[in-house]
Amino acid sequence: MSLSLVEFLKAGTKPDLDSERGVTCAGELPTPSDPDLVERAKKAKAALGKRVMILGHHYQRDEVIQFADITGDSFKLAQAAAENREAELIVFCGVHFMAESADILTSEAQRVILPDLAAGCSMADMATLSQVRDAWTVISELGIDSSTIPVTYMNSSAAIKSFTGEHGGTICTSSNAERAMKWALQQGERILFLPDQHLGRNTAVRHLGFSLDDCVLWNPWKPRGGLTDDQIRAAKVILWRGHCSVHGRFSLKNVQDRRSEIPGVSILVHPECPHEVVMAADHVGSTEMIISTVRNAPNGSKWAIGTELNLVRRLANENPEKEIHFLDKTICYCSTMNRIDLPHLVWALEALAAGQIVNVISVDETTAHHSRIALERMLSLPQTAHSD
Ligand code: SF4
Repeated sequence: MSLSLVEFLKAGTKPDLDSERGVTCAGELPTPSDPDLVERAKKAKAALGKRVMILGHHYQRDEVIQFADITGDSFKLAQAAAENREAELIVFCGVHFMAESADILTSEAQRVILPDLAAGCSMADMATLSQVRDAWTVISELGIDSSTIPVTYMNSSAAIKSFTGEHGGTICTSSNAERAMKWALQQGERILFLPDQHLGRNTAVRHLGFSLDDCVLWNPWKPRGGLTDDQIRAAKVILWRGHCSVHGRFSLKNVQDRRSEIPGVSILVHPECPHEVVMAADHVGSTEMIISTVRNAPNGSKWAIGTELNLVRRLANENPEKEIHFLDKTICYCSTMNRIDLPHLVWALEALAAGQIVNVISVDETTAHHSRIALERMLSLPQTAHSD
């Protein structure tokens, strides 16, 4: 059945509950043009006092970040949630997997709130539990399950973290991926790296001395991952075919263009970028490393940065004495992070202040238990640092 143009456009205005975790608020969402939004947020936050803590990921909009008690990457924010036992309500301005990690690490008495339930992460969604179980079945059939250690990036669902904990693996971040993978190779002979192929490949080649041929790519949409049994057995790293829709967009051409346009520029990128981009960059590091590199750079230095645009713009505003460019010329926000806007924050804070607990992110105890095991393995790695 074909739709007329009007029907087609109308269809796009309805929530698609099959593809999103939820798109509606249980009440009136303020309009973005409401001139009192800032005052309303301040008032609701003041009314909640120490009962509430607002966490803001570095990729959030400025209009939201201004209300954050703590800003950071996903790992730092999860740690902040775990360390604060005073706030019973943690309003997490980030995406779904981050709120799940905060729920896993907080106490029974604390509730984690995500102001817009549709703020997911496309990378986390690229590895579902049933897909990962199917891959593990093949690995088990080949008799190499006991020598294959899962290493899962923080940017994954609680279900995948739990699978990792149950199967002897660890979580990693973009700063400790090298240590996590080295630890895994002490426990077994090969790694199943989930779900970001780029972080896994970049770490394996740049830090562990593997060749690109030592890594194979598991495609969850193909039978047996699209690989032969011999390829799976011979691999040192089985990379999952997932990527970040923001960092995955940067290209070698972006690097070449910026170098020719801006003499003396330094290229600074996140390790979720494709391998050829990372190999052509001058500096590679996590979100926290990108921030500290720019802050500590000499005045007059020039930077082209390959990470989320809200953060790059904020760094440019905070460091006017340095020349800061976005690596790509086209806009590149994280669209799901951007779902948390001021109207959603105001709506959530006002509801909480009125005694209505909304948009709670809750991980069931079995999933939380095994996820905690995997997270604790990561925390016991030497010099654990931060993530995306
Ligand atoms: S920036 Fe990438 S990894 Fe981070 S939340 Fe957005 S899509 Fe996910």
